[in-house]
Amino acid sequence: MGRTLKRVALDFKWPLNKTWEGFLNPFWNQSIKCTECDGSGSNPGADILYNLAYVHKYYDICKLMPKCDIEPLKQFAISIMNKKSLGIKFFNHAKYHGFNNSKLEQLEPLRDKVFNSEIELWIELIPIIDSWGISVQQQLNNLINEHASASWTAAFGVEEFEVLLKCGEIPSDYFPGRIQYRFDEEEKTWISLDRDRTKDHKEWKWVPCEKPELPSVELLKKYFNSALSGSGSVYYCAKEKAKKEGWAIGKCECCSGEGHVWPSKEVKNQYDNWTESEPPAGEGFQLWETTSEGSPTSPVFETLDALCEYAAENCSTFADFKASKEEWKQMLGDDMVVTPMLDNDGNKTGVVFI
Ligand SMILES: [Zn+2]
Repeated sequence: MGRTLKRVALDFKWPLNKTWEGFLNPFWNQSIKCTECDGSGSNPGADILYNLAYVHKYYDICKLMPKCDIEPLKQFAISIMNKKSLGIKFFNHAKYHGFNNSKLEQLEPLRDKVFNSEIELWIELIPIIDSWGISVQQQLNNLINEHASASWTAAFGVEEFEVLLKCGEIPSDYFPGRIQYRFDEEEKTWISLDRDRTKDHKEWKWVPCEKPELPSVELLKKYFNSALSGSGSVYYCAKEKAKKEGWAIGKCECCSGEGHVWPSKEVKNQYDNWTESEPPAGEGFQLWETTSEGSPTSPVFETLDALCEYAAENCSTFADFKASKEEWKQMLGDDMVVTPMLDNDGNKTGVVFI
């Protein structure tokens, strides 16, 4: 996310928030999405493993299954897909659909428990719901069908968390002193980053250390099953699992991992040899966003002062965050990309120059 100052010709005209044409490779739209991998660039085994990060992609995984000839990988994927859990999503929906508190309390002991199949789940459910009316049982059945799928992270255990520890995916909050750890594969050594808030973050340095102790598995399970952790954790575990089991996962053979193919070698060369061109340079001052390929976000002004006055009123530094005219002047004068500094409640307390 960034904003930058560009010096452009005073008569430069280009629609605001539209990517400057000089930054877009005109040959790109001649590439064709690879039908073999549907644009993912991965072979079917890799796609199956990576899609296991997303519960809503189970139907996509089913479609990929016939394309994959690695039987143990398919068995593994099925075992993950069969897992059920009455987690946050189920409870939220149950509440929304009018399940009263006394019923939800009865289901509470099953919360976050991971079952290997729907049958296993029902074996525990039946004694609890025995006295509930038929219509409520039917409603519960529908809710389970829709909202009781467990993500792969629900099945994470010590093995997976050790992988995440090596990748630096376990947040520093889970270690004493809020120290960040990861394993340096090149140097074959553990390294740590002391995130000392009393020091400027530029002074933080990765230094060799002993292997840290894995934090409590219960706490980690809670974190990795929450919405806070991204699909990156599954990606790392998928890669490690495949390596360990010797599964041939990797790039799509048809497009060499590009996700698209070219109609001819000539077009591909034209695409590769194209170079971008900046807007016409001049005396004007204009604010650009660099989040996409790059587009102007303000008119062209004759002075930096005028631009900053406009920006304070009309432009954001990051998401919806604004800056004062003086802050803009400092940022753009140094031509730095900025992000806001937030307090624990997400309120802007200043800007950070990065
Ligand atoms: Zn492909």
